[in-house]
Amino acid sequence: MIMANNLKRQFDLYASEYESKALEVLRSGWYILGNEVKEFEKEWANYIGSKYCVGLASGLDALWMSFRILDIHDGDEVIVCGNAYIACVMGITMNGATPIFVEPDEYDNMDANKIEEKITKKTKAILAVHLYGTACDMTKIMSLAKKYNLKVVEDCAQSHGNHWDGKRVGTFGDIGCFSFYPSKGCGAFGDGGCIVTDNEDLADKFRVYRNYGSRVRYENEVVGTNSRLDELQAGLLRVKLTHLDELNSERCKLADRYFIEIKNPLIVLPKIRPGADSTWHQFVVHVPNRRDDLIKYLKERDIGTIIHYPIPPHLSKAYEYLGLKKGDLPITEKYANEVLSLPMYNGMTYEEQTIVINAINDFE
Ligand SMILES: *Cc1c(COP(=O)(O)O)cnc(C)c1O
Repeated sequence: MIMANNLKRQFDLYASEYESKALEVLRSGWYILGNEVKEFEKEWANYIGSKYCVGLASGLDALWMSFRILDIHDGDEVIVCGNAYIACVMGITMNGATPIFVEPDEYDNMDANKIEEKITKKTKAILAVHLYGTACDMTKIMSLAKKYNLKVVEDCAQSHGNHWDGKRVGTFGDIGCFSFYPSKGCGAFGDGGCIVTDNEDLADKFRVYRNYGSRVRYENEVVGTNSRLDELQAGLLRVKLTHLDELNSERCKLADRYFIEIKNPLIVLPKIRPGADSTWHQFVVHVPNRRDDLIKYLKERDIGTIIHYPIPPHLSKAYEYLGLKKGDLPITEKYANEVLSLPMYNGMTYEEQTIVINAINDFE
Protein backbone atom coordinates (compact mmCIF):
# COMPACT_ATOMS: atom_id res chain seq x y z
CA MET A 1 0.00 0.00 0.00
CA ILE A 2 1.45 3.35 -1.05
CA MET A 3 -0.35 6.21 0.63
CA ALA A 4 -0.70 9.69 -0.88
CA ASN A 5 1.05 10.95 2.23
CA ASN A 6 2.73 9.03 5.03
CA LEU A 7 3.51 11.08 8.12
CA LYS A 8 5.10 8.18 9.98
CA ARG A 9 8.00 8.26 7.53
CA GLN A 10 8.91 11.90 8.14
CA PHE A 11 8.82 11.23 11.90
CA ASP A 12 11.06 8.18 11.51
CA LEU A 13 13.70 10.22 9.66
CA TYR A 14 14.62 12.12 12.86
CA ALA A 15 12.69 10.15 15.50
CA SER A 16 15.29 10.24 18.26
CA GLU A 17 15.68 14.01 17.98
CA TYR A 18 11.92 14.56 18.27
CA GLU A 19 11.67 12.11 21.16
CA SER A 20 14.38 13.76 23.21
CA LYS A 21 12.96 17.26 22.57
CA ALA A 22 9.45 16.09 23.56
CA LEU A 23 10.80 14.69 26.83
CA GLU A 24 12.77 17.85 27.47
CA VAL A 25 9.64 20.00 27.11
CA LEU A 26 7.45 17.63 29.12
CA ARG A 27 9.98 17.61 31.95
CA SER A 28 10.44 21.38 31.89
CA GLY A 29 7.12 22.08 33.61
CA TRP A 30 6.44 25.05 31.27
CA TYR A 31 3.91 24.40 28.48
CA ILE A 32 2.49 27.70 27.15
CA LEU A 33 4.39 30.78 25.91
CA GLY A 34 7.84 29.95 27.16
CA ASN A 35 11.34 29.68 25.83
CA GLU A 36 10.60 27.17 23.03
CA VAL A 37 8.02 29.48 21.43
CA LYS A 38 10.28 32.50 21.85
CA GLU A 39 13.26 30.74 20.26
CA PHE A 40 11.16 29.19 17.49
CA GLU A 41 9.73 32.60 16.59
CA LYS A 42 13.26 34.00 16.24
CA GLU A 43 14.45 31.01 14.21
CA TRP A 44 11.43 30.98 11.88
CA ALA A 45 11.61 34.75 11.25
CA ASN A 46 15.29 34.32 10.48
CA TYR A 47 14.70 31.37 8.15
CA ILE A 48 11.93 33.10 6.20
CA GLY A 49 13.75 36.44 6.14
CA SER A 50 11.25 38.52 8.12
CA LYS A 51 11.86 40.70 11.14
CA TYR A 52 9.12 39.23 13.35
CA CYS A 53 7.27 35.96 13.81
CA VAL A 54 4.37 35.35 16.20
CA GLY A 55 3.40 31.74 16.97
CA LEU A 56 -0.34 30.96 16.84
CA ALA A 57 -2.57 27.92 17.26
CA SER A 58 -3.30 27.26 13.56
CA GLY A 59 -3.06 28.51 10.00
CA LEU A 60 -6.72 29.48 10.01
CA ASP A 61 -6.12 31.62 13.10
CA ALA A 62 -3.21 33.31 11.33
CA LEU A 63 -5.53 34.17 8.43
CA TRP A 64 -8.60 35.44 10.28
CA MET A 65 -6.51 37.31 12.84
CA SER A 66 -4.62 39.00 9.99
CA PHE A 67 -7.79 40.46 8.53
CA ARG A 68 -9.07 41.34 12.01
CA ILE A 69 -5.85 43.17 12.87
CA LEU A 70 -5.82 44.91 9.47
CA ASP A 71 -9.34 46.14 10.33
CA ILE A 72 -11.04 44.41 7.41
CA HIS A 73 -14.71 43.76 8.13
CA ASP A 74 -18.25 43.65 6.73
CA GLY A 75 -18.68 45.76 3.66
CA ASP A 76 -15.07 45.13 2.64
CA GLU A 77 -13.91 42.90 -0.20
CA VAL A 78 -10.83 40.68 -0.28
CA ILE A 79 -9.49 39.20 -3.50
CA VAL A 80 -8.53 35.50 -3.37
CA CYS A 81 -8.04 32.70 -5.90
CA GLY A 82 -11.07 30.60 -6.78
CA ASN A 83 -9.22 27.33 -6.23
CA ALA A 84 -8.15 28.23 -2.69
CA TYR A 85 -8.40 25.92 0.28
CA ILE A 86 -11.59 26.59 2.26
CA ALA A 87 -9.62 27.99 5.22
CA CYS A 88 -8.42 30.91 3.07
CA VAL A 89 -12.01 31.92 2.42
CA MET A 90 -13.07 31.37 6.03
CA GLY A 91 -10.26 33.64 7.19
CA ILE A 92 -11.94 36.39 5.16
CA THR A 93 -15.58 35.65 5.94
CA MET A 94 -15.03 35.16 9.70
CA ASN A 95 -14.51 38.91 9.73
CA GLY A 96 -17.68 39.58 7.76
CA ALA A 97 -15.76 40.58 4.63
CA THR A 98 -16.65 39.25 1.17
CA PRO A 99 -14.28 37.05 -0.85
CA ILE A 100 -13.94 38.03 -4.50
CA PHE A 101 -12.66 35.09 -6.50
CA VAL A 102 -10.05 35.28 -9.25
CA GLU A 103 -9.45 32.34 -11.58
CA PRO A 104 -6.18 30.38 -11.47
CA ASP A 105 -3.65 30.39 -14.29
CA GLU A 106 -1.71 27.52 -15.87
CA TYR A 107 0.54 27.42 -12.78
CA ASP A 108 -2.47 26.53 -10.57
CA ASN A 109 -2.23 29.78 -8.60
CA MET A 110 -4.13 33.07 -8.86
CA ASP A 111 -3.93 34.66 -12.31
CA ALA A 112 -2.50 38.07 -11.39
CA ASN A 113 -3.57 39.43 -14.78
CA LYS A 114 -7.20 38.99 -13.76
CA ILE A 115 -7.01 40.85 -10.44
CA GLU A 116 -7.34 44.44 -11.61
CA GLU A 117 -10.76 43.93 -13.21
CA LYS A 118 -12.07 42.74 -9.81
CA ILE A 119 -10.93 45.76 -7.83
CA THR A 120 -13.78 48.02 -6.63
CA LYS A 121 -14.13 50.84 -4.11
CA LYS A 122 -14.78 48.16 -1.50
CA THR A 123 -11.58 46.19 -2.13
CA LYS A 124 -9.30 46.33 0.90
CA ALA A 125 -6.85 43.48 0.45
CA ILE A 126 -5.47 40.68 -1.69
CA LEU A 127 -4.95 37.25 -0.14
CA ALA A 128 -2.15 35.64 -2.17
CA VAL A 129 -2.33 31.88 -1.61
CA HIS A 130 0.88 30.09 -2.60
CA LEU A 131 -0.76 26.77 -3.38
CA TYR A 132 1.00 23.41 -3.67
CA GLY A 133 4.44 24.75 -2.63
CA THR A 134 4.99 27.40 -5.26
CA ALA A 135 4.55 31.17 -5.48
CA CYS A 136 1.97 33.49 -6.98
CA ASP A 137 3.31 36.31 -9.15
CA MET A 138 4.17 38.57 -6.21
CA THR A 139 5.72 41.24 -8.43
CA LYS A 140 2.39 41.92 -10.15
CA ILE A 141 0.39 41.51 -6.96
CA MET A 142 2.56 43.98 -5.03
CA SER A 143 2.46 46.54 -7.83
CA LEU A 144 -1.37 46.37 -7.96
CA ALA A 145 -1.50 46.66 -4.17
CA LYS A 146 0.62 49.78 -4.36
CA LYS A 147 -1.43 51.29 -7.18
CA TYR A 148 -4.76 50.77 -5.37
CA ASN A 149 -3.49 51.07 -1.80
CA LEU A 150 -4.47 47.53 -0.81
CA LYS A 151 -3.15 45.33 1.99
CA VAL A 152 -1.53 42.05 1.00
CA VAL A 153 -1.72 38.91 3.12
CA GLU A 154 0.21 35.86 1.93
CA ASP A 155 -1.06 32.37 2.74
CA CYS A 156 2.13 30.32 2.89
CA ALA A 157 0.55 27.27 4.59
CA GLN A 158 1.74 25.09 1.70
CA SER A 159 4.88 27.05 0.96
CA HIS A 160 7.47 26.66 3.69
CA GLY A 161 10.70 28.02 2.31
CA ASN A 162 10.16 28.38 -1.42
CA HIS A 163 10.94 31.61 -3.23
CA TRP A 164 9.64 34.24 -5.58
CA ASP A 165 12.35 36.22 -7.35
CA GLY A 166 15.00 34.97 -4.91
CA LYS A 167 13.11 35.89 -1.70
CA ARG A 168 11.14 33.48 0.43
CA VAL A 169 7.35 33.76 0.22
CA GLY A 170 5.76 35.43 3.22
CA THR A 171 8.16 38.38 2.99
CA PHE A 172 6.37 40.34 0.25
CA GLY A 173 3.02 41.34 1.73
CA ASP A 174 2.09 43.04 4.99
CA ILE A 175 1.69 39.69 6.72
CA GLY A 176 2.72 36.12 5.83
CA CYS A 177 0.57 33.34 7.33
CA PHE A 178 1.81 29.82 7.98
CA SER A 179 0.15 26.61 9.13
CA PHE A 180 2.12 23.88 10.88
CA TYR A 181 -0.60 21.26 10.43
CA PRO A 182 1.26 17.92 10.37
CA SER A 183 1.15 17.45 6.58
CA LYS A 184 2.67 20.89 5.81
CA GLY A 185 6.33 21.27 4.85
CA CYS A 186 7.50 22.11 8.35
CA GLY A 187 4.60 20.28 9.95
CA ALA A 188 4.20 19.96 13.70
CA PHE A 189 2.86 16.92 15.56
CA GLY A 190 -0.49 18.55 16.21
CA ASP A 191 -1.91 21.95 15.28
CA GLY A 192 0.11 25.12 15.01
CA GLY A 193 0.60 28.24 12.93
CA CYS A 194 2.29 31.63 12.87
CA ILE A 195 2.50 34.95 11.11
CA VAL A 196 5.61 36.77 9.91
CA THR A 197 5.88 40.50 9.27
CA ASP A 198 8.43 43.29 9.11
CA ASN A 199 6.01 45.66 10.83
CA GLU A 200 6.73 45.89 14.55
CA ASP A 201 3.33 47.36 15.34
CA LEU A 202 1.48 44.52 13.58
CA ALA A 203 3.64 41.89 15.32
CA ASP A 204 2.86 43.49 18.66
CA LYS A 205 -0.87 43.41 17.91
CA PHE A 206 -0.72 39.68 17.15
CA ARG A 207 1.18 39.01 20.39
CA VAL A 208 -1.48 40.80 22.39
CA TYR A 209 -4.42 39.44 20.39
CA ARG A 210 -3.40 35.76 20.66
CA ASN A 211 -3.42 35.95 24.46
CA TYR A 212 -6.88 37.35 25.28
CA GLY A 213 -5.80 40.85 24.32
CA SER A 214 -3.43 40.88 27.23
CA ARG A 215 0.15 42.07 27.52
CA VAL A 216 0.26 42.17 31.30
CA ARG A 217 -1.55 39.32 33.03
CA TYR A 218 -5.22 40.14 33.78
CA GLU A 219 -5.01 43.48 32.01
CA ASN A 220 -6.94 43.22 28.73
CA GLU A 221 -6.45 45.92 26.11
CA VAL A 222 -8.62 44.51 23.33
CA VAL A 223 -11.10 41.67 22.88
CA GLY A 224 -8.60 39.08 21.74
CA THR A 225 -8.67 35.32 21.50
CA ASN A 226 -6.78 32.25 22.67
CA SER A 227 -4.45 31.24 19.86
CA ARG A 228 -1.07 30.22 21.17
CA LEU A 229 1.45 27.86 19.67
CA ASP A 230 2.28 25.54 22.56
CA GLU A 231 5.72 24.78 23.90
CA LEU A 232 5.70 21.12 22.84
CA GLN A 233 4.88 21.94 19.20
CA ALA A 234 7.31 24.85 19.18
CA GLY A 235 10.09 22.61 20.49
CA LEU A 236 9.36 19.93 17.89
CA LEU A 237 9.17 22.58 15.16
CA ARG A 238 12.60 23.86 16.19
CA VAL A 239 13.98 20.36 15.61
CA LYS A 240 12.21 20.05 12.25
CA LEU A 241 13.34 23.49 11.11
CA THR A 242 16.97 22.39 11.41
CA HIS A 243 16.12 19.76 8.77
CA LEU A 244 13.67 21.74 6.63
CA ASP A 245 16.11 22.37 3.78
CA GLU A 246 16.92 18.64 3.61
CA LEU A 247 13.21 17.75 3.71
CA ASN A 248 12.43 20.24 0.94
CA SER A 249 15.27 19.04 -1.25
CA GLU A 250 14.26 15.43 -0.76
CA ARG A 251 10.81 16.31 -2.14
CA CYS A 252 12.44 18.21 -5.01
CA LYS A 253 14.32 15.03 -5.95
CA LEU A 254 11.08 13.03 -5.89
CA ALA A 255 9.49 15.68 -8.12
CA ASP A 256 12.46 15.61 -10.52
CA ARG A 257 12.02 11.90 -10.95
CA TYR A 258 8.29 12.23 -11.63
CA PHE A 259 9.10 14.88 -14.27
CA ILE A 260 11.65 12.66 -15.99
CA GLU A 261 9.92 9.32 -15.80
CA ILE A 262 6.17 9.96 -16.07
CA LYS A 263 5.37 9.59 -19.74
CA ASN A 264 1.68 9.31 -20.40
CA PRO A 265 -0.15 11.59 -22.83
CA LEU A 266 -3.26 11.52 -20.62
CA ILE A 267 -1.38 13.25 -17.81
CA VAL A 268 -0.28 16.88 -17.76
CA LEU A 269 2.67 17.49 -15.42
CA PRO A 270 2.80 20.60 -13.20
CA LYS A 271 4.26 23.85 -14.52
CA ILE A 272 6.43 26.14 -12.41
CA ARG A 273 6.05 29.88 -12.97
CA PRO A 274 9.26 31.53 -14.22
CA GLY A 275 10.65 33.39 -11.17
CA ALA A 276 9.32 30.78 -8.75
CA ASP A 277 10.63 27.49 -7.37
CA SER A 278 8.71 24.80 -5.52
CA THR A 279 9.01 22.90 -2.26
CA TRP A 280 6.52 20.37 -3.67
CA HIS A 281 4.00 20.40 -0.88
CA GLN A 282 1.95 18.51 -3.45
CA PHE A 283 2.82 17.11 -6.86
CA VAL A 284 -0.37 18.03 -8.69
CA VAL A 285 -0.98 16.69 -12.18
CA HIS A 286 -3.93 17.50 -14.41
CA VAL A 287 -5.82 14.63 -15.99
CA PRO A 288 -8.24 16.50 -18.23
CA ASN A 289 -10.56 13.64 -19.19
CA ARG A 290 -9.94 10.49 -17.20
CA ARG A 291 -9.08 11.71 -13.68
CA ASP A 292 -11.63 9.61 -11.84
CA ASP A 293 -10.73 6.50 -13.87
CA LEU A 294 -7.08 7.04 -12.96
CA ILE A 295 -7.92 7.34 -9.25
CA LYS A 296 -9.85 4.06 -9.39
CA TYR A 297 -7.10 2.34 -11.40
CA LEU A 298 -4.42 3.43 -8.92
CA LYS A 299 -6.59 2.45 -5.95
CA GLU A 300 -6.93 -1.05 -7.39
CA ARG A 301 -3.13 -1.17 -7.33
CA ASP A 302 -3.03 0.03 -3.69
CA ILE A 303 -1.76 3.49 -4.64
CA GLY A 304 -3.39 6.41 -2.85
CA THR A 305 -4.00 9.86 -4.33
CA ILE A 306 -5.81 12.99 -3.11
CA ILE A 307 -7.73 15.73 -4.90
CA HIS A 308 -6.77 19.23 -3.75
CA TYR A 309 -9.65 20.25 -3.89
CA PRO A 310 -12.73 18.49 -5.25
CA ILE A 311 -15.25 21.25 -4.38
CA PRO A 312 -14.16 24.85 -4.94
CA PRO A 313 -15.17 27.16 -2.06
CA HIS A 314 -17.74 29.10 -4.13
CA LEU A 315 -19.67 25.85 -4.74
CA SER A 316 -19.44 24.52 -1.19
CA LYS A 317 -22.60 24.45 0.91
CA ALA A 318 -20.99 26.76 3.45
CA TYR A 319 -20.78 29.54 0.85
CA GLU A 320 -24.19 29.16 -0.76
CA TYR A 321 -25.01 32.54 0.76
CA LEU A 322 -22.53 34.26 -1.54
CA GLY A 323 -24.94 33.46 -4.36
CA LEU A 324 -22.38 32.04 -6.79
CA LYS A 325 -23.37 29.22 -9.14
CA LYS A 326 -21.80 26.45 -11.14
CA GLY A 327 -20.29 28.04 -14.25
CA ASP A 328 -19.34 31.31 -12.52
CA LEU A 329 -15.67 30.28 -12.26
CA PRO A 330 -15.18 27.93 -15.21
CA ILE A 331 -11.40 27.49 -14.91
CA THR A 332 -11.56 26.87 -11.16
CA GLU A 333 -14.35 24.35 -11.70
CA LYS A 334 -12.47 22.64 -14.54
CA TYR A 335 -9.39 22.30 -12.32
CA ALA A 336 -11.49 20.77 -9.51
CA ASN A 337 -12.46 18.05 -11.99
CA GLU A 338 -8.97 17.34 -13.31
CA VAL A 339 -6.33 17.89 -10.60
CA LEU A 340 -4.77 14.94 -8.79
CA SER A 341 -2.02 14.90 -6.17
CA LEU A 342 0.33 11.96 -6.60
CA PRO A 343 2.05 10.25 -3.62
CA MET A 344 4.71 12.65 -2.33
CA TYR A 345 6.18 12.49 1.16
CA ASN A 346 9.49 12.59 2.95
CA GLY A 347 10.83 9.10 3.38
CA MET A 348 9.20 7.79 0.19
CA THR A 349 11.44 5.00 -1.09
CA TYR A 350 12.87 4.64 -4.60
CA GLU A 351 10.95 1.37 -4.98
CA GLU A 352 7.66 2.96 -3.96
CA GLN A 353 8.09 5.72 -6.49
CA THR A 354 8.97 3.17 -9.19
CA ILE A 355 5.66 1.39 -8.51
CA VAL A 356 3.73 4.67 -8.82
CA ILE A 357 5.53 5.71 -12.02
CA ASN A 358 5.09 2.33 -13.70
CA ALA A 359 1.40 2.19 -12.82
CA ILE A 360 0.82 5.69 -14.20
CA ASN A 361 2.74 4.95 -17.38
CA ASP A 362 0.67 1.78 -17.93
CA PHE A 363 -2.64 3.62 -17.53
CA GLU A 364 -4.53 3.95 -20.79
C1 LIG B 1 -3.56 24.02 5.73
C2 LIG B 1 -3.98 25.29 5.12
C3 LIG B 1 -4.61 26.31 5.86
C4 LIG B 1 -5.13 26.12 7.25
O1 LIG B 1 -4.22 25.75 8.18
P1 LIG B 1 -4.69 25.04 9.56
O2 LIG B 1 -3.44 25.04 10.37
O3 LIG B 1 -5.19 23.68 9.21
O4 LIG B 1 -5.76 25.90 10.15
C5 LIG B 1 -4.83 27.52 5.24
N1 LIG B 1 -4.50 27.73 3.96
C6 LIG B 1 -3.93 26.77 3.20
C7 LIG B 1 -3.56 27.07 1.80
C8 LIG B 1 -3.67 25.52 3.75
O5 LIG B 1 -3.11 24.57 2.99
